[in-house]
Formats: sequence, C-alpha cells, structure tokens
Amino acid sequence: MKKLSLTTKILIGIILGLIVGVILNLFLPELFKLLNNYLFDPISVLFIKAIKMVVVPLVFFSLVAGAAGIADPKKLGRIGIKTIVLYILTTAIAITFALILANLIEPGVGTSIEKPAEKPKIETAPSMKDTLLNIIPENPVSAMANADMLQIIFFALLFGIGMALLGNKVDQVRQFIDQGNEIMLRLVTIIMACAPYAAFALMARAIGQAGIDLIGSMAWYMITLILALIVHMGITYSALLSLFAKYNPIQFFKKMGRAIEVAFTTSSSAATLPVTMDVAEKDFHIPKSISSFVLPLGATINMDGTAIMQGVAALFIAQLYGIPLGLEEQLVIILTATLASIGTAAVPGAGLIMLTMVLQSVGLPVEGIAIVLGVDRLLDMSRTATNITGDVCVAIVVAKGEKDKEEQVA
Ligand code: ASP
Repeated sequence: MKKLSLTTKILIGIILGLIVGVILNLFLPELFKLLNNYLFDPISVLFIKAIKMVVVPLVFFSLVAGAAGIADPKKLGRIGIKTIVLYILTTAIAITFALILANLIEPGVGTSIEKPAEKPKIETAPSMKDTLLNIIPENPVSAMANADMLQIIFFALLFGIGMALLGNKVDQVRQFIDQGNEIMLRLVTIIMACAPYAAFALMARAIGQAGIDLIGSMAWYMITLILALIVHMGITYSALLSLFAKYNPIQFFKKMGRAIEVAFTTSSSAATLPVTMDVAEKDFHIPKSISSFVLPLGATINMDGTAIMQGVAALFIAQLYGIPLGLEEQLVIILTATLASIGTAAVPGAGLIMLTMVLQSVGLPVEGIAIVLGVDRLLDMSRTATNITGDVCVAIVVAKGEKDKEEQVA
C-alpha cells in the first residue's frame, strides 16, 4: 500500500466506496443504516471537521504572508497593479463561465438529496449590498471566531500591508507568520493523507443514501467542471494572448505542456512553481525581473481553476438540495469565489476547504461539500493545471506590455 501514490489510493477509495454504496443501497438498506451510523458517517464527519478546522488559520497566515510580500513598495509599481488587476479580472471571468455552464447543464438537477439536519441558512443569505458592506469587520477576533471569511480576508490583507510598511521593524512577526503558514500547510498535507479513507466513506455514504442517481449527477458535475476549465483556457487565455501579446495560443499551450504535467501530478501550484518559472523564462523568454514577481504571486493568489470549481460546486450543491439561487446570489458567488480563490493555499485540496466560504456566503449547507469531496482529488489535478496556465498567460501579457513601453521610450 505504501508504494501507491496518494492519487491512486484516493482513486481506489472512490471506486470501492462507489461499489459498496451501490450494493448497500440496492440490496442491503438495513445494513447500510448500520454501517453508515458507525462507520461511513463518523469518518465523513471527522474529515470534514478536520478540513474546517484549518480554514481560518490557514487563510489568515497565507494571506498575511502574501500581502506582506506584495505590498513591498518597490514591487507594487505599474507591473504590480497591472498583474493584480489581470489576475482578478481573469478569475471573475472564469467563475462567470463556470456559472453559465452550471446553469445550462444543471448537473445536480434530477437527483435530490435530503437537506442536512442543521438547517441551511438560506433565509438569512445576505444581499449583495450587505455582503459588500460587511467586508470590514468591527472586530477581527469575532470575525475569526465566526469564521467570517470575507472579513478575515480583509483584515489579513490590511495586516500584511501594515507589516510591509513597517519593514524590518516587524521582522519577528514576519517570521512568526511565515512559520505559522508552514505549519498550517503541513497540517493540510497530514489531513489530505487521510483522503483515501475519507473518499471511501464519503462515496459510500452519499451513494448509499441517495442511490445510483447520484453517480450520474456526479459524473455531470465533473463534466461541467472540466468543460468550464477548457472553455476558460480556450477563450479567455487565447483572447488575452492574441489580443494583448500577439502570441499564438496554440504555441502557448504546446509550450505549457511540461508545466501542466507537473501540475497534474502534484496538484499544487506551489510545488509546480519552479517548473512554471523555468518554462516562463526558457520557453517564453519572459525576463526574470517580471517572472520572479508575477509567477510566485500568481501561484499564491491567482487560481482561475479553483474559482471555477467553487462556482460549479456551489451551483451543483444548490441544485441537489433543491435550493434556488437567483441572480443576486450568483453575483455574490462570483465575488466570494474570487476572494476564496485568492485565499486558497497553493497545495492539494485547499480549494475545497475554501468552498465552505462560498457556500456559507449564499446560505447553502456546508455539508454539501461531502458530496463533491469524494471526487475532488481528480478534479484538483485539472484545476491546478488551469491555475498555473493562467499565471503564465498573465506573465506573458505583462512582459509584452513592458517590452512595448521600453521600445517606445527608446
Ligand atoms: N491544488 C490547487 C493549487 O495548488 C488549489 C486547489 O485546491 O484548488 O493550485
């Protein structure tokens, strides 16, 4: 067992869970109740709790560390602003594609799932205006206690900027934050090591309860998600490259192959970063001065693939629970998924942890994560590939802009 990679183990977990779930659902419903009560449900609940446990400190440490780096006055010039604007814009476009496809394909319609015992807070879902007004916390400690992610993100970014402005004076805090960040990332790795068992329990529980219909819905969820990733890469990145960098998109995707492979196998933008930088410098001839700023920043805050997953998953879960989401709620999803993807750590599975925030923002039951969790690792591979492709695409556009500017000056 030791020799198998985590992905293989998770795959085995998913398939076994699927088979067991189907058999119990069709032939042994009584046995399912028993097993679910003492095995599937407890494992699923423990795993989801472990994931929720790390959300607040993970987001806080990783964003403070990121903001403290970004706000370096020397870096945050024209290049910095252009990069950040492009990152946020492409992410918002990505979720929009995700929502359009999820509305058209409706992967979760047709299968219904019982609402969880704890009542979904749909009645209290705030309006877009309230969501925006609530971003500034009156009390950051209570924001953390209540896991109010938008408020935590806001406070963390300001905290990081404050740190950057104070420079060397706060070196000890900087060290504390960096080490805190490392510890939280390690915890995520430990939790993810349990993923194969959790995937088994989650699949068996979900399919045992909802029946075979759910398999079809999950397949549609995966198809919708992958389609959204392809559409976003094919349209948004190709348009950006050809319009703003005069670069042939086909050439681009060919040259990205090496980095995409690594993203696929590691499911981590951070782990892929050395290869991404290498490809950017050697294959795309992006000057080091640009790639060394744009790419690490992108690996930390620019996650179009993750945002797509969060958008599709939120709609999928709403459809399964039969909770209608209006236009305003979908706009809130665009806003929160953009921020959630910024706050997502560049390690395997982190995007799913941040999905809690998107679900909460529109009053969907966080329990819904259990349904997509089983198949998430497979999708994590593809979305990480999109994440890093987006980083390089923006780096090329920024580099081209700078080159044009230099030529003009010359
Ligand atoms: N694994 C992704 C990444 O590192 C983050 C995620 O889970 O969505 O880019």
